[in-house]
Amino acid sequence: MAYLTGKTALVTGASRGIGRAIAQRLAADGALVAVHYGSNDAAARETVLAIEQAGGQAFAVRAELGRPGDVDTLFAGLTVGLGERPLDILVNNAAIGAPIPVEKTTPELFERVFAVNVQAPFFIIQRALPLLRDGGRIINISSSATRIAMPEIAYAMTKGAVDVLGRSLANTVGDRGITVNTVAPGVTETDMNAWLRDLPEAKAGIAGATALGRVGQPEDIADVVAFLASDQARWVTGHLLEATGGIFLG
Ligand code: NDP
Repeated sequence: MAYLTGKTALVTGASRGIGRAIAQRLAADGALVAVHYGSNDAAARETVLAIEQAGGQAFAVRAELGRPGDVDTLFAGLTVGLGERPLDILVNNAAIGAPIPVEKTTPELFERVFAVNVQAPFFIIQRALPLLRDGGRIINISSSATRIAMPEIAYAMTKGAVDVLGRSLANTVGDRGITVNTVAPGVTETDMNAWLRDLPEAKAGIAGATALGRVGQPEDIADVVAFLASDQARWVTGHLLEATGGIFLG
């Protein structure tokens, strides 16, 4: 169903992985999608091409987050692509992992992971709010790492900040009919988790610890985001929705 015909969406980190699946799903639902990415031009082109071949509309916007001027660059590209149209849906998906235990985390790495995963989404939202149509959608991608203890503490901390951002922001922008929700994926098969491809026994272990008996796929997350972006989720805000297949339920 083309629930989003006539609407526009910005999906950060949409060249690969979960962001690509979200961009493809929102475009399939009828939205014109801005496919944001950091540096992988070929992957971004592939996402746009896949959307167009499926009959959808998209354009790519390159901006490396966590660098000076990142948000300016992103919104310059977004504005060119959207023309006069306002923004309806913002999905803050881009993030980097920091698969390093606490004793090996340097101040530089800590600063970088917070710059990309926390500072960038915050200022993207700040810049997007005047462009967002009343009744719009903000969806932030967090992680089950905020509720399952993991050795990668700095990364988990960034996602804790994303959770807080969603709840507080929902209360701030509700008077404009804008909903703000957070989706927390569990282990999902993407480049961020290349070890799932390389270590079949580790993948089987995750599947075994998941109620639904498999590892997540990007489309599992994209479908949840599409629901939150749709009119059907108009009464859902300030919510954190875990999309994990029931990981480590006990
Ligand atoms: P991937 O590593 O597969 O893809 C990352 C995407 O973000 C790419 O499009 C990449 O662009 C973009 N990106 C990364 N760093 C930057 C940057 N500095 N500036 C601009 N763009 C950047 O990630 P996933 O799809 O796995 O993850 C997507 C989201 O889901 C993240 O928020 C992640 O934390 C979250 N998540 C993922 C889980 C998983 O198991 N995969 C589990 C829980 C949460 P480019 O192609 O140009 O590099």
